[in-house]
Amino acid sequence: MKITGDQQLIKKMNKTIVLDTIRQQQPLSRADIASVTGLNKATVSSLVSELIESQLVTEIGPGESSGGRKPTLLLFNRSAGYAIGVDIRVSDMLMLLVDLEGTVIQEKILPLVDSSPETVQNQIRKHINLISKKTPSSPYGIVGIGIGVPGLVDEKSRVVSSPNLGWDTVSLQDSLLPGFGNTIHIDNEANAGAIGEKLYGAGCDSANLIYLSIGVGIGSGIIVDGELYRGTSNFSGEVGHMTIAENGPLCRCGNRGCWETVASEKALMDKAAVLWKGSSIPNLEEVILQAKRGDERALSLLDDLGVHLGVGLANLINILNPELIVIGSRLSLAGDMLRDAMLRTVEARSLSYHRKKTNVIFAALGIRSTALGAASMPITSFLADPDVTPVVPSL
Ligand SMILES: [Zn+2]
Repeated sequence: MKITGDQQLIKKMNKTIVLDTIRQQQPLSRADIASVTGLNKATVSSLVSELIESQLVTEIGPGESSGGRKPTLLLFNRSAGYAIGVDIRVSDMLMLLVDLEGTVIQEKILPLVDSSPETVQNQIRKHINLISKKTPSSPYGIVGIGIGVPGLVDEKSRVVSSPNLGWDTVSLQDSLLPGFGNTIHIDNEANAGAIGEKLYGAGCDSANLIYLSIGVGIGSGIIVDGELYRGTSNFSGEVGHMTIAENGPLCRCGNRGCWETVASEKALMDKAAVLWKGSSIPNLEEVILQAKRGDERALSLLDDLGVHLGVGLANLINILNPELIVIGSRLSLAGDMLRDAMLRTVEARSLSYHRKKTNVIFAALGIRSTALGAASMPITSFLADPDVTPVVPSL
């Protein structure tokens, strides 16, 4: 019998459903999959055989019997391939090698001597080569690379603007691809962070969440009904430029009183420069340390920052009514010192019906949210098409 296009499509969809069920509910038997998905047992059995053949699924010892023969349990083969996640920051880059479940296998923090596109691309290329040499052997090798960039990334994956890096229309994908025959995904760093927290961190159980990336500036990734909200031009989430004080400090965007002029790491450092006038100005880590030791200046700086954070958060809670807000990136390091002032302000300024179900926390993945989310993008693409045969791609 000739298989028509539609039948092939349905088979592919069913295979994806079976693979997703194994990934989410492992370990489980073929009979469990049939009962969870509603597919008949013969279909499940044939699709599972194909998944075992392509090494995406493995069998483990028998599970508990409910009467007859003990069933063989199935596991997703998380080591069938690997992905690289890159978080390009202002003065350094975080690179991770992860397995197909996002477990970190290798981690590198690389200082950036300068942030010109050429230097960054060369660094990425060089270290992808180094990482790939140390990647454990696997049926699919490195399935792709995900890169989070602090700037606006359009729907064609071009970085159209990154004031922090000084970039203006840079196509990382085109310049990296000739050397690497893998799938390369580029996204805004806060979008990648939101995906990272949703898949692997604090947001696993939340369908509506906002991830706030607070470092030099403030960006956000907004997840609505489990999906990233991208906006009309892929530029959603620039909450750092929400006006908080009409005549406040001048922002790098040209506006005055943007949220990031009062609630970012840069805002904190600018104030520290005034307070520590004449002596060496502490960095964020030193301010946190001094606050823990009871230094009044450091304590008041962090308290002020918590209040300013709370003002913006109250706006977001009132507008979007999220279940969860995750604060990540550099400022999550100061979470313990900011929390009280921040939550006090949220309590005082947000609408009571809105905040009732909103939880505000600091990132579970710390400074890894973006790199992990970036790495998950090629993994998601790879697993969306489980009709694959093991071929180790050459890097
Ligand atoms: Zn601004």
